[in-house]
Amino acid sequence: MDFNILVLGSGAATPTFARHCSAQMVNICSSHILLDCGEATQTQLRQYHQRIQSIKTIFISHLHGDHFFGLPGLLTTMHLCGRQDALTVYAPTGAREAINLLFEVSASHIDYPLTIIDIDTDQPAVIHSDNGFKVTAFPLRHSMPTYGFVFEEDPPLLNLKPNVRNLYNMTNDDCLRVKQGANLILADGTVIPNEQLTLPRRLPRRYAYCCDTAFDESIIPVVSGVDLLCLESTFDNSFVQLAEERCHLTAAQAATIAAQAGVGQLLLTHFSARYREIEPLLIEAQAIFPNTICASDGGRYELETKTEKFRINSNENPNEDENISEPENLSTLNPSNPKTLRPLNPESLTPN
Ligand SMILES: [Zn+2]
Repeated sequence: MDFNILVLGSGAATPTFARHCSAQMVNICSSHILLDCGEATQTQLRQYHQRIQSIKTIFISHLHGDHFFGLPGLLTTMHLCGRQDALTVYAPTGAREAINLLFEVSASHIDYPLTIIDIDTDQPAVIHSDNGFKVTAFPLRHSMPTYGFVFEEDPPLLNLKPNVRNLYNMTNDDCLRVKQGANLILADGTVIPNEQLTLPRRLPRRYAYCCDTAFDESIIPVVSGVDLLCLESTFDNSFVQLAEERCHLTAAQAATIAAQAGVGQLLLTHFSARYREIEPLLIEAQAIFPNTICASDGGRYELETKTEKFRINSNENPNEDENISEPENLSTLNPSNPKTLRPLNPESLTPN
C-alpha cells in the first residue's frame, strides 16, 4: 500500500528560486492529501505532475501566508478546470471567513461542494478518518493558532497460519475475529492465544508534520515512534534566541525532539531564505540525531512497510515454525537504518 510524501515547498516565509513556501502531498492508502498550501503551490503541483482534481482533502497548519496564501488560487483553479467532486479543507478558525471575503471582493465563485472545517483543539484529537487511515491534529507553540498532524494507517488484518482453520474447525466468523486480533475460544472453553494462530503482522506506518513551532517538549509524546517526523528547521543553532522570539526551531532543537521521541527518521524543512546551502543545518542535526535528512522541493520520501519479527507474546519460537516466513525486509525494523525512508532525486521528476 502506498504511503509517501512529496515535498512541494521546503522554504520558510520568503520563497526563492530553489525553495517554495510550505506545501506537501501526502499519498496514503490511495488518497491524495494536500498539507499546507503556500504561495504557488498550484504551479508546484503541475511541476511535479500531481493531478489537482485528485485532491479531496486539504489540511492547513496555520494561517500565516507562507502556509495559506496559495489556497484561494488553488480553489478557483479547481473550479476553472471543471471540478465537480467535493473538497474538504481542515484549517484553523478564520480560514472560512478569509476565503469567503476574498471570493466576494474578487467576484470569484466555485461550483463544486467545498466544506471548510475549523480545527480547534487544545489536545491531540482525531479530526479525520478515511479508507484505511486517520489523521490526528494537535496544537503547536507558534505565534498564532497552529496545529501539527499525524497520519496513521489503520492496523491491517492479521493473516492466519496455514492449516489452523482446519486444525481447530474454525468458522468464517471465528476467522474474522482472529484476524482482528481476538483469541479463539473452543467449544470446551479452551482458549487458543491469537499469537498461536496468526503470522507476524505488517505494522501500521505513521507520519508526523510539525510546521511551524517553537521548541516544545509536549510534541514528543504525540510523535513518539513515528516512522517519519517532518519538523521545521528555520534556523541553525547560532540563531537560537531569534528562533525562540519568532516561535521557530533550530536544526539542533528539531533533532533533540526527534531523538527524545525515538522516531524512525527526521525530515527537516522550512529553511530560512538566508541559507543558500543547508549542509550546516544537516550536520548540526545529525550530530544529535544521525538519521536526519533535509527536504528539497520535488523530493519524495517513502515510508517502507515493516513487519513484526515474530508475534508479540507468542509462546512459540518463531524460528522453529516453518510456517512463519521471515519479514520481507528486516533492515527496516532498525529505526536508525537510513534506508528506512528513501529520498528520491528531485531531478528525476521532470517539470512539464
Ligand atoms: Zn508560521
